[in-house]
This record gives sequence, C-alpha cells and structure tokens, in this order.
Amino acid sequence: MNDKKDQIAISEILSKAGVNPTAQRIAVFKYVHNESDHPTPEQVKVAVDRVFPKISLATVYNTLNALVEAGLVKAVKLPNSGKVCYDANTAKHYHFIDEKQGLLLDLDLKDIKIDLNLSTQFEVKDVDVFIKGHYSG
Ligand SMILES: [Zn+2]
Repeated sequence: MNDKKDQIAISEILSKAGVNPTAQRIAVFKYVHNESDHPTPEQVKVAVDRVFPKISLATVYNTLNALVEAGLVKAVKLPNSGKVCYDANTAKHYHFIDEKQGLLLDLDLKDIKIDLNLSTQFEVKDVDVFIKGHYSG
C-alpha cells in the first residue's frame, strides 16, 4: 500500500470512528498501527516528529487519548514502571514482558487458561494478565 492510499484508508477509519482525521492524527494512527509495537507516547512523538517537526508531547497525548476513546487503540499500563504504552491490537489479549530485551508481546487468549475460584464477594469485571520471563523467538 503506498503512502497516499494509506492516508486515505486511515482517514476513512478515523472518520468512521468519529475522529476528525487531521494530518497529525493520521500520522499518529499510522505509526501506532503500521510502524511500531506498543509504543510509548515519547516514541510516538519521535516518529511523528519526522513528519511534523514541532508536534508537542501534549498533542501526542491528546491524539492518543482521542484514538483510545474512539476504540482505535488501547492504552496499556505496564505493571512495573506504571508507564503507559499504546496498543494497536484492540482485541482482548494478554501480554508477555521480556524485561531483558524490553519487549512487550501479545499473547492470544487461547494460550492462557484462567480458572477463577473466588468467593462471591469478588465481582470480577475484567482480567488482565502480564506474564514475565524470557522470550527467545
Ligand atoms: Zn498488546
């Protein structure tokens, strides 16, 4: 897909989700979805800066929040650092953290069996899993 087609396709995705497709928003979406994997806002800024040299970190945050609200990306809060990264995979999934390599990998729900055995006092609304270890793929 060439760049122009990319822009038009992304513009349509944003419009359908109720997000005004400004050039900056298109660039942020494109980076999170096509060119990166669980980037932090700082990483998004560095990448988008190549297209929009003076984009502020606040604009990057606002854009990412707009995309999260529209359901186009997910915010993932990392358990150790508390840092937030952004996930293009909006389907329910878990994560594997390889701290040595600094990797955050998606895990399919079918690969993890969670068997809750809690008393009825616990009303579970959601389950989020971060598995830590070493990845040698
Ligand atoms: Zn993910």
